[in-house]
Amino acid sequence: MAAKQSFRDAWLNNEDFQPWLSRVEDIPSRAFCKICKREVRAELTAIKRHKTTKMHSVYEASEQQEVQQERIPAHHGNYAANGVAVATILFACFIAEHNLPFTTADHEEDVS
Ligand SMILES: [Zn+2]
Repeated sequence: MAAKQSFRDAWLNNEDFQPWLSRVEDIPSRAFCKICKREVRAELTAIKRHKTTKMHSVYEASEQQEVQQERIPAHHGNYAANGVAVATILFACFIAEHNLPFTTADHEEDVS
């Protein structure tokens, strides 16, 4: 067991590691976590341990959030449309509240 550990392609087929584990180009003694963007020793125990680290679970959770956030641009469009609608309603309320006839106000004031 004194021999240098090196990355095994079999790990990439392990469904526990598959979503985030990657090999490091030209460095067989290292593995790479795509989520944390960190290198891990190319040892099964080190990789297993990395998966259980707080850092990895935090990054994994934020990774999932990012996937959800990809839909937000569509929502932004809705928010913009809603903003216009709200502004229109507020404007209508303002007119109603001040009982403004809107276009004839100045004229009527001139008459009276
Ligand atoms: Zn990680």
